[in-house]
Parts: sequence; C-alpha cells; structure tokens
Amino acid sequence: MRVRVLGSSAGGGFPQWNCGCENCRGVREGTIQALPRTQESVCITADNQDWFLIQASPEIRQQIESFASLHPRHLRHSPIQAIVLTNGDLDHCLGLLSLRESYPLIVYATERVQQGFIENNSLYRTLQRFPNQITWRRLSLGHEIPLLRGNGKPSGLTIEAMAVPGQRPLHLRTQLSDDPEDNVGLKICESSTGRTLLYLSSVKKISPELYKCLPLADCVFFDGTFWSENELLAVDSKGKRAQEMAHIPIGEKNGSLSLLAKIHIPRRIFIHVNNTNPILREDSLERQLVQDAGWSVAYDGMELEL
Ligand SMILES: [Zn+2]
Ligand SMILES: [Zn+2]
Repeated sequence: MRVRVLGSSAGGGFPQWNCGCENCRGVREGTIQALPRTQESVCITADNQDWFLIQASPEIRQQIESFASLHPRHLRHSPIQAIVLTNGDLDHCLGLLSLRESYPLIVYATERVQQGFIENNSLYRTLQRFPNQITWRRLSLGHEIPLLRGNGKPSGLTIEAMAVPGQRPLHLRTQLSDDPEDNVGLKICESSTGRTLLYLSSVKKISPELYKCLPLADCVFFDGTFWSENELLAVDSKGKRAQEMAHIPIGEKNGSLSLLAKIHIPRRIFIHVNNTNPILREDSLERQLVQDAGWSVAYDGMELEL
C-alpha cells in the first residue's frame, strides 16, 4: 500500500488567513523553520494506478494538482476512484462541492456524515445535475468492506470504520444530537500483504476500542491538532480548549504522547496539525520530544510505502 499526504494541517491550514500567531507570522515571513501546510487529506493506492482520497479538503484542487499520479490520463478522466470521509467537518468535506465539473463521484461515509452533508444544503444540487453524478457508499461501524473502484471492481484494499470519540460538525450543533457515526476512524487493509493503516485524525479520547486495535497497525496517522489543552486560548481569548474541540492534546500529562508510548506501532505520524502547534517548528523542543518518542509529523508531499 502506498500512501501520500496531500494536506497535513487542521482546519484553517498553515498559515491560516486570519492568524498572526508566532507560527503563522513566522512561516509567512520565512523566519521560522517550518513548512506551510494545506488542510488534511491523504491518498492511498494498492496498485499505483487507482487512488482513494481520504477527506475532501477545501484545498482539494490544489492538492490534486500537486501530485502527478492524480492527474487525468486522458480527456475527462481521474485516477481518483472514490473519496472517504471520516466526519462532516467543513475542512474534511467542503472540497466535494469543488468537484462539480460533471464527473461521477463516489463517496464513502457513514449515514450520519452523508445526511449532515446533504440535508438542507442547496449547494448540494451542484452534485446532482445528472443521474449518478454522486454515489454514496455506506460505511457501517465495525463492518469491513472492500474498497471498490469506480467500476465496482475490487481495489485490493478493504476498509472498516470504527467509532472514535469526537463531536458533530460545528454547523450541525443546533440540529442534531451526538451519534457514534459522527466521527470515525478508518482501518484500511491491503489484502495481498495484510498491511494495515489506521487513520485517526480526530480523536477526543483514546477509547478501549482504540487501545485494542492500535497494536495491530503497521502505521497510524493520529490526531496532532494541539500540543496543549489551552493552546488556542493563548492566541484567542475566545478560543476553546482542545478537549472542548474534541481533540486530545499531544503533550499534556494524559496526552497522546504519553498514553500511546507503550504501544508498539512501527510507524506513527501526527496529522491534522493546527497552525498554533509548536511541533510544526522543526527546531522546537516539542518537535524533538515527539521525534524522540518515535513519531513523525506529517507534511504535504510526505510519502510512505507500507
Ligand atoms: Zn478538521
Ligand atoms: Zn496561527
């Protein structure tokens, strides 16, 4: 299985348009050691031909253009077979609306994430202009299914969604109550090698279920949004704490770094990194700490072979 990171930052990107924090200012001015990052998305393949996108970020167009393997191979074509959504946050699904150029799309999501996207959304009509412009394929919690190509044939990969503590998207808070299908992690397996990728980019809490499956993974992408619980409050007095935003911080006493320290995972990568997070700076103490613990920090263009 080959994995390519298209975008590695949390909502807002790095730098964020309205942020003048030390990191955002520094990366704009070139005064800190850090790479700019677009909003989280990765793509995977088992055969180097057909690709699956995880998330449809607001920067999807730029992300597709950034990677030649995702470019059309003839008139009106895309190697992207389907898009998988882990939740309905705008930074993960807004990009769907940018793919409106009369091309059939296949989207894997839970029923909740699908409903959250299509209900009361007049912009969704742009993806319904002809029959089968968009096809939703259902992710049900705990069910492993083959990840199918656009033509319905197997891709060599299977996918299973698991409930991960998280929360509803901000824009749906008034309408719905919480549901385990609001936020999922993905277990993606390559059938020929048995290699397993765990994709957990939004995690409020490490549940017993997560503790159980983490040691089975060859590689895990994990929520790297915040280093500390009060990180956002330091740049915005109206900001929320990490836990209120459903992200377990990395560096706190009960943070992911210490909770996951004893679990053996060959490759561990923080992704969905917020622009305020000190691990973005390559020479920071926090970056050193995560590296010493065996973690990498995802960057746009990062590639791995499992
Ligand atoms: Zn996000
Ligand atoms: Zn910032």
